[in-house]
Amino acid sequence: MASTIFEKHSPGRKGYTLPANDVDIKLKNCIPNEFGRKEDTRLPEVSELDVMRHFLELSQMNHCIEKGFYPLGSCTMKYNPKINETLVRNDAFNNLHPFQGEETTQGALEIMHELQNDLAEISGFSKVTLQPVAGAHGEFTGLLIMKAYHKFNGNSKKNKIILPDSAHGTNPASVILAGFEVVEIKSNDKGLVDIDDLRSHVDENTAGFMLTNPNTLGLFETQVEEIANIIHSVDGLMYMDGANFNAIMGIVKPGEIGFDIMHYNLHKTFATPHGGGGPGSGPIGVRKDLAKFLPIPMVGKKDDKYFLDYSHADTSLGKIHSFFGNFAVNLRAFIYIKMLGAKGLRRVSENAVINANYIQKKLEKYYDIPFKDQYCMHEFVASGVWQKGKYDINTLDIAKRILDKGYHAPTIYFPLIVPEAMMIEPTETESMETLDDFISAMIEIAKECEKNPELLKDAPLNTPVRRVDDTLAVRQLNVKFEL
Ligand SMILES: *Cc1c(COP(=O)(O)O)cnc(C)c1O
Repeated sequence: MASTIFEKHSPGRKGYTLPANDVDIKLKNCIPNEFGRKEDTRLPEVSELDVMRHFLELSQMNHCIEKGFYPLGSCTMKYNPKINETLVRNDAFNNLHPFQGEETTQGALEIMHELQNDLAEISGFSKVTLQPVAGAHGEFTGLLIMKAYHKFNGNSKKNKIILPDSAHGTNPASVILAGFEVVEIKSNDKGLVDIDDLRSHVDENTAGFMLTNPNTLGLFETQVEEIANIIHSVDGLMYMDGANFNAIMGIVKPGEIGFDIMHYNLHKTFATPHGGGGPGSGPIGVRKDLAKFLPIPMVGKKDDKYFLDYSHADTSLGKIHSFFGNFAVNLRAFIYIKMLGAKGLRRVSENAVINANYIQKKLEKYYDIPFKDQYCMHEFVASGVWQKGKYDINTLDIAKRILDKGYHAPTIYFPLIVPEAMMIEPTETESMETLDDFISAMIEIAKECEKNPELLKDAPLNTPVRRVDDTLAVRQLNVKFEL
């Protein structure tokens, strides 16, 4: 592991040069005695080069997409074009203040207006708000819209939201936060919504249904129309968790196949670096009659002028975030959409799907792939049950060994309905050579399980930090460095 900057300390060594003091005051005399420092700070004394090396080394200890393949299923860790970063740092955007008047922010408003329209067009919805700042925040907003819709109709019985057992953890959490009850239904043996189980749980209390499509098994839910008929027959609303939209963009418009509300994960599908909790953006799109409930303000356009539109304030939920959402993340998505155009976006999805199927096919002899009746979409779920059964190797051990090979591990133990799950999402930005190298590494690991299981129990061997003792870390949490 790298040494800390304190360990590089050498008294008297420094990385700065100040001009000679030409002012005749003693600093000590200016500061009242009681505020003066009694002992020296314990700051590291290091040269400029020491500091450069230290921070460069630190930056390389973490994995990142620029360093290597990052197949973290569901998270879409794709390469984010650097032109987004360059443009977003332009002073024209950087110096804007949200309190500025509309007449001086026409450019920014135009971008927001156009992004609202582009997202609506791509997904087949009538209106889009850019205010929510994460996927989960979009879910929450969508659920509040369901609430507003039922209230508007004077229907006080609607207190339950149905979700399949493959749902992302944020779905039930958002349902609870929005004040509904969760009703969980089963997936069938093909990994799709079990329609019979759905039917048996739908009643007059059903406020809506949340579905991720493609779902978290990486499978396209083919029965959306039938599900929508069932849910709509009791005046429930269909919510699509669109975090996996990167698999169907330009191919399927969720607004045209039965969904009423959907969130987008701009930080996944539309290329913004993410991880570690933000910043993100989770706009939602809705069908026409639900637009009146969207948060205020929207961005409107009248006589070639853009303006903040509060006109539906009576029926709106109000605001769900300060100002207008995460403008800089929305801007990156805007640039990405404009650079790729309709055809480019479709190719993103096609390549994401081809890449995932390629890996799945090449690994099927080495790892159990529970749902392979149907082609996978942008990701697939493999399982470590063969390795567990034969060699007592856990999926966690396999994931740790993957780190040794220079890759980020896939998402593991999710979705919950697959034992020893490994969820692999290559994304469209990887070359065939990278996919082949990863496949070789996974096959090598499968062979190591047989020949050298101890290696897997000890992994990772080559990372800056070896396997951490999770239990001890939780019991004796100590995040402070002391010399
Ligand atoms: C990432 C993800 C979410 C949540 O999005 P956040 O931006 O992390 O809040 C919800 N559902 C699915 C399927 C996801 O992959």
